[in-house]
Amino acid sequence: MRKAAILGKPWEASETTAIVGQCLCGAVEIEIGTPARWAWHDHSSATRRAHGAAYATYVGSWRKRFRVTKGEADVTRFKDEATGTTRSFCARCGTPLAYERAHSAHMVNVPRALFAGRTGREPRYHIAIDQLQDWTYLGGPLVPLKGYPGVVWERPTKNSTRKKRGSLSGGWS
Ligand SMILES: [Zn+2]
Repeated sequence: MRKAAILGKPWEASETTAIVGQCLCGAVEIEIGTPARWAWHDHSSATRRAHGAAYATYVGSWRKRFRVTKGEADVTRFKDEATGTTRSFCARCGTPLAYERAHSAHMVNVPRALFAGRTGREPRYHIAIDQLQDWTYLGGPLVPLKGYPGVVWERPTKNSTRKKRGSLSGGWS
């Protein structure tokens, strides 16, 4: 039936649906097929340092659905021999582009922040949550900072989540 053939199309189409991401300077563009395999927040110290951020949010892509579509010559790689991981970044602007693990050769993990659009996966999982830093913003209420337009701050209170968390993890460092 003609209609059945048409109905069969969307599945094939979704196999080729891709989303494009880019680094800060725009020299490098990457592409992954959507939906991505999965998505998560990584709180490990290695990722924290590699991103210079409290934690990084990744989407995992099958390697066969990942490609650098622009600026391959500007992609630099750092291989951590101790852990067998390879992190790629833009040599011009330093933006992290991909994180690959030797024991998971069929997957490429891409920082979620490179994509402006949807990846087809919500980051509902956490890796190394025991390494969550006590300075990480957890979405608490914010109020305007008097005299500094555009700046808001998290006012400390005796019952704040941060304080509770601080005492649970053995205090502030
Ligand atoms: Zn760049």
